[in-house]
Amino acid sequence: MSFVIVEGCTKDEKCIEVCPVDCIHPRKDEPQFAEIEQLFIDPVNCIDCGACIPVCPTNSIYAEADVPAEMAAYTEKNAQYYQ
Ligand code: SF4
Repeated sequence: MSFVIVEGCTKDEKCIEVCPVDCIHPRKDEPQFAEIEQLFIDPVNCIDCGACIPVCPTNSIYAEADVPAEMAAYTEKNAQYYQ
């Protein structure tokens, strides 16, 4: 399992600051940051610690098992960013 960022992400980087394994990208200093609409979680490296959830101001992060059905596509979207 991993955690997933869904619609509503404002790229404020609060989750990036608290992630202990640096698995949320892109960061502001990465070239893709300006082009993409939201941040993504690397499903391979996420350790399911949950630290990113309470700091997200838009409640846009879910455990994979809790992603609402209408947002299911975001699980794949997050994974695709790292392929
Ligand atoms: Fe990073 Fe933990 Fe959030 Fe996974 S659950 S993205 S490891 S802060």
